[in-house]
Amino acid sequence: QKPVPSDIAISRSCVPKPIDRLAREVGLLSDEVELYGKTKAKVQLNIIKRLQAQPDGKYVVVTGITPTPLGEGKSTTTIGLVQALGAHMKLNVFACVRQPSQGPTFGIKGGAAGGGYSQVIPMEEFNLHLTGDIHAITAANNLVAAAIDARMFHEATQSDKALYNRLVPLSGGQRTFSPIQINRLKKLGIEKTDPSTLTEEEITRFARLDIEPSSVTWQRVLDTNDRFLRKITIGQSPTEKGHTREAQFDITVASEIMAVLALTSSLEDMRQRLAKMVVATSRSGEPITTEDLGVSGALTVLMRDAIKPNLMQTLEGNPVFVHAGPFANIAHGNSSILADKIALKLVGPEGFVVTEAGFGADIGMEKFFNIKCRYSGLRPHVVVLVATVRALKMHGGGPTVTAGMPLPKEYIEENLELLEKGCSNMRKQIENAQHFGVPVVVAVNGFKTDTEAELDLVCSMAKAAGAFDAVRCSHWAEGGAGAVALGQAVQRASEAPSNFKFLYDLELPIADKIRIIGQKIYGADDIELLPEAQRKVELYTKQGFGNLPICMAKTHLSLSHEADKKGVPTGFVLPIRDIRASVGSGFLFPLVGTMPTIPGLPTRPCFYDIDLDPETEQVNGLF
Ligand code: ADP
Repeated sequence: QKPVPSDIAISRSCVPKPIDRLAREVGLLSDEVELYGKTKAKVQLNIIKRLQAQPDGKYVVVTGITPTPLGEGKSTTTIGLVQALGAHMKLNVFACVRQPSQGPTFGIKGGAAGGGYSQVIPMEEFNLHLTGDIHAITAANNLVAAAIDARMFHEATQSDKALYNRLVPLSGGQRTFSPIQINRLKKLGIEKTDPSTLTEEEITRFARLDIEPSSVTWQRVLDTNDRFLRKITIGQSPTEKGHTREAQFDITVASEIMAVLALTSSLEDMRQRLAKMVVATSRSGEPITTEDLGVSGALTVLMRDAIKPNLMQTLEGNPVFVHAGPFANIAHGNSSILADKIALKLVGPEGFVVTEAGFGADIGMEKFFNIKCRYSGLRPHVVVLVATVRALKMHGGGPTVTAGMPLPKEYIEENLELLEKGCSNMRKQIENAQHFGVPVVVAVNGFKTDTEAELDLVCSMAKAAGAFDAVRCSHWAEGGAGAVALGQAVQRASEAPSNFKFLYDLELPIADKIRIIGQKIYGADDIELLPEAQRKVELYTKQGFGNLPICMAKTHLSLSHEADKKGVPTGFVLPIRDIRASVGSGFLFPLVGTMPTIPGLPTRPCFYDIDLDPETEQVNGLF
């Protein structure tokens, strides 16, 4: 076998077709497409109306077993499968994937365009700024953060009357409320539009949000693995008159605005979600929203281009939507509903849309079903569960696998014993998918060190565990041709009966919903709500947010909350440290154990290898 060149070398060796040509090929009209250079375009949302009557295609979600820190090839399989279905089986297809964060691209894991001969191209465009959506989210998120602290500062340093006079300034001898201020008055139960009619008491209630500083849950964000921003003190300049506060940065992809982008269904819906985001609680216990801060309209303006999905292509010329990019461990880990919906219309009833859910099935897939499908109303036909021999050997007791270090010999030589033992993790993740009543096809992503006997063993164990089918694939080394068997299995599975159901009812109490996920998906004996989590359960229930779905923030490296517990851990109680509310995106967000919400850089980050060749202007070193 010929050695497979580097991802960037493969990406560069293929000349992408002009993106306007691809847009025409998939049935987009020229005025529905906004070109961003030659290889990227945004698609306008009015297409949804035009294709309203078109039946949807088949919907496939790609997930995986519990991975090693290296990743087991879900993105690679998503692209390989689409290349197989499209370029080789001649079906209409679309891949829908997330935009990668620059945290991992410059940090440990590298980019997320897939790999080998199954990639989105050009991969440097994909992995770096794309069309600026993540930057737009950073800008919008930090505008909210600035609005919160500035408002608290102004309220602390001004009388009610002075505040009011500045919030509703005189213009031409008259004061007028802006539409957003009239919304706030309505929320306060003050049905007035003429400022001159407000009583003293109403002026105070209107002017003061009265935010309790310790209740602020909104953080600043940036798209860099900067661990020293995990805890900061803001307001240290003398101009802030001693109004300092402990705060933190999160990574942009953990911002609630990223989740809103992924879960929204229209511009109007996004405007409403951006207005509903709860950023803090007032001293009297009321939730304070972005609409109260007056910033929601400006956020919508900042996000108006980001809401349009980005069109790119695979190495074999198939269409790909790249849109939204929440991490799966600290956020909900799925690309946008809008991209999936538009793609399902574009492929038509015989076509396939393959979308990817981040990390293992316990994380991204559970949230795909219980959060994304609940909001989209879409029902997948097939789950593709990616498994690798190396990760299964790790679950069977193999030594630790570390990014950037050579793999220990257990992973390079045949070892059926370790592998068979580790298949327990795959069995559990198949069961997790089956909770939702959708047929599961296991894709065994073959590496060059895997032996025939090992690959066969994984397939037979998967079938014995109740998978609809299990197939070996070699799309990393061979492109779409290496995933035709997978494509055929997926096509057969898409015609099999399915019996979709959610894991829990929204009306259940918050703790019960968390317990169902903990017990049925992670295999915990029970959950333990630590005092802060208990307090939040009471607060959110009282504030009326108790019936939102749950977005667990848990390590992706184990089914349990402890990253070093491999296989199928048992006999553990899941500690829930705290719970946050993402009311605009529409979920509650329990923090399981300690999960950093901004990663750090390793000693030797990926950026060491990345450089620009000034002669050719080519980017080197991305993978
Ligand atoms: P995930 O989406 O599950 O995190 P990726 O698809 O991003 O995983 O793959 C992780 C890394 O492993 C990428 O660098 C990719 O090129 C590489 N990879 C995936 N499949 C194979 C394979 N079969 N052989 C060798 N490398 C692979």
